[in-house]
Amino acid sequence: MAKRDYYEILGVSKNASKEEIKKAYRKQALKYHPDKNQGDKTAEGKFKEAAEAYEVLSDENKRQRYDQFGHAGVGGASSGFGGGGGMTMDDIFSSFGDIFGGHFGGFSNFGGFGGGSRPSRQRVNKGSNLRVRVKLTLQEVAKGVEKKIKVKKYKECSACDGTGAADTHSFSTCSTCNGRGQVTRVSNTFLGQMQTTSVCPQCNGEGKIITKKCTHCYGEGIVKEEEIISIKIPAGVAEGMQLSLNGKGNAARRGGINGDLLVIIEELPHDELVRDENNLIYNLFVSVPDAALGTAVEIPTVDGKVKIKIDSGTQSGKILRLRGKGLPDVNGYHKGDLLVNINVWIPKTLSREEAKLLEKLNTSPNFKPQPNKSEKNIFHKMRDMF
Ligand SMILES: [Zn+2]
Ligand SMILES: [Zn+2]
Repeated sequence: MAKRDYYEILGVSKNASKEEIKKAYRKQALKYHPDKNQGDKTAEGKFKEAAEAYEVLSDENKRQRYDQFGHAGVGGASSGFGGGGGMTMDDIFSSFGDIFGGHFGGFSNFGGFGGGSRPSRQRVNKGSNLRVRVKLTLQEVAKGVEKKIKVKKYKECSACDGTGAADTHSFSTCSTCNGRGQVTRVSNTFLGQMQTTSVCPQCNGEGKIITKKCTHCYGEGIVKEEEIISIKIPAGVAEGMQLSLNGKGNAARRGGINGDLLVIIEELPHDELVRDENNLIYNLFVSVPDAALGTAVEIPTVDGKVKIKIDSGTQSGKILRLRGKGLPDVNGYHKGDLLVNINVWIPKTLSREEAKLLEKLNTSPNFKPQPNKSEKNIFHKMRDMF
């Protein structure tokens, strides 16, 4: 399925202000909110689509890349959000929860989202996912890197081992469900007796009630703390990619499972090299005499400078390919190339003598353009490139 234009999704113009984008997103999000469209897959799709559009357009950097390169510029298929399916509801609420304000309550209430369609499943508390952005230089992308980042996250309370209770005796069995965590209701319908099972509302499925709360975490079983997390980032990652570290996100209330840590990659632009997937492009300018006579020049690569030879008679637009001097593929063994795009520099101002010299040279038959067949045909040139 072709991806829709992000501006179109939010119904804003290309030069919409940040505030307009936020407003438009809020409108869409409220319209397609899962609370209002229970079990409606189309609405859920639209809700995710709007979140994806907002995720890009609300970020100045990403918006710029999107404007310039379209979906490909913000990760395209390689992005964690590729196809809109990679972003879970949990991600959306933990990223853009502020958009919803108090309207729908905190996102911790959404642990039960989707419960409508699976009423009999025992509720398992899961901590929310934590999202961090990591900015990488091109060199770091080329080699891979280990980054240490400081995050503030919910961790299990050490005073009560995450139980939320003051001590091991501070529990009583839930009287509503007798400790089962579920309640079963039998109702008579014209099809006969129907039995529905749902999470116990009294104990939230835990089966027990805390009689005396832990004073450190006030019964939540989790406390917010700073942690330094070390993240190994493989070589070849790209802007918008998302690495998921299972269980490194927020701890859940009272003994659930941890959320994930989602690491979103941002690329810092390089001064001289431009990335095109695994290839790198360098725009080299050479003088008219150098292009005509031939020369050797130093060019930058991700491994430092290398010297390359420019043959005599090199035309503007020629592309030299340095094999394997690009970026490694994040999934494989392939390495991209460095493409050196040659531009012959034509002087923009001339002294009187220079002009005279050129006029004299211009009378020589060698200075008359004599492109060969492939130089004449731009399509040949482009085909040679790939
Ligand atoms: Zn109960
Ligand atoms: Zn505690």
